[in-house]
Amino acid sequence: MIPYGRQEILEEDIQAVVDVLKSDYLTQGPVGPQFENQMSVYCGATYGIAVCNGTAALHLACLALGVGPGDLVWTSDISFVASANCARYCGAKVDFVDIDKNTLNISIPQLATKLQIAEREGRLPKVVIPVHFAGRCCDMDAIGALSQKYGFRIIEDACHALGAHDHVGRKVGSCRFSDLVVTSFHPVKMITTGEGGMILTCSEELAARLALLRSHGITRDESKMESESDGPWFYQQVALGYNYRMTDIQAALGLSQLNRLPKFLEQRREVVKRYRDRLSAFPVVLPFEGDDEISAWHLFVVRVPAQSRRQIFEAMRNAGVGVNVHYIPIHQHPDFARLGFQVGQFKESELYYSEAISLPIFPSLSVEDQDTVVSCLRRSLTEAGAWQVDCSKQLGCMS
Ligand SMILES: *Cc1c(COP(=O)(O)O)cnc(C)c1O
Repeated sequence: MIPYGRQEILEEDIQAVVDVLKSDYLTQGPVGPQFENQMSVYCGATYGIAVCNGTAALHLACLALGVGPGDLVWTSDISFVASANCARYCGAKVDFVDIDKNTLNISIPQLATKLQIAEREGRLPKVVIPVHFAGRCCDMDAIGALSQKYGFRIIEDACHALGAHDHVGRKVGSCRFSDLVVTSFHPVKMITTGEGGMILTCSEELAARLALLRSHGITRDESKMESESDGPWFYQQVALGYNYRMTDIQAALGLSQLNRLPKFLEQRREVVKRYRDRLSAFPVVLPFEGDDEISAWHLFVVRVPAQSRRQIFEAMRNAGVGVNVHYIPIHQHPDFARLGFQVGQFKESELYYSEAISLPIFPSLSVEDQDTVVSCLRRSLTEAGAWQVDCSKQLGCMS
């Protein structure tokens, strides 16, 4: 099976991990802070707080901004469920914003309208979590301007977008318009630590809060204690935190991978160029073309006629091509429907979901394998009777 995404591990990565295994510290040693430092330098943030996965990073990000019961958090309806669950972990309510049919990111007009209504009704969100879907940066200038106007805080979910730039060339992670930027190091993401995540910020205060919450809410720093220290052994729990730490084993892998991130990004762009070239005459809608050079290209999603999507998907899987669907609109999951969300509430996201297929994309995808994907898609479209149709008329996304 050609997977939709996969890591690239070289001897140098293995050696970096082995070095930690042979050292004194498997966790809480020197490599974790090195990785945090390198990541923050790479992204143009001041601080990086490494954690055990991207979901924990989102959870801590919400906690650090004081999200709690009675608060509202909004995110994009087309994302991984973790983008929404983080608010629920904190006892807050979550709501969604529909997507833009081209960029597949949060729709700015929809967000603006929803904010206007929310203001009138006195239920503005405390935090908005824009998701840089598939690696393409959201319009952060517009979201930043809205946050000024309506007073919400911003957590960027950059789990797809490490190494991406915005439309004026600012690196994702630099926190220009946001309080916090979250990323993930799951093996399908841009670089991997096995499991892992990081929160980037330019706020010293938030960085300190995140570091505290990552490790049980415990401090050994006398200046942060609420009473006199009993002695050199002393520590105090000053907040309810978690054990969300990343090991040095993981951090070593991350550091080693970070060296090759520029190359990974270049290789992903090559894959995209080949797809655009080979699929140009296909009756599918290719990813929106704006800003090809600055997306991190986590995913390459094509849209096919909804009525044949399932057949095409199954044919490709049966032929050994690990296609996928990213994502099921979050509001449609039973655990969210129970909260009152309904089918038909977010039209673009539901339409997109009915047509989407993610094709394999990862740095080491060979030209040969990519050609197999392309010919398999051609055959599947033909078998599904989708080749003849004029996609500009058939696909809702174009209407
Ligand atoms: C992968 C991902 C997450 C969660 O990251 P994990 O490291 O798997 O916990 C959150 N949001 C988005 C958009 C993701 O793609």
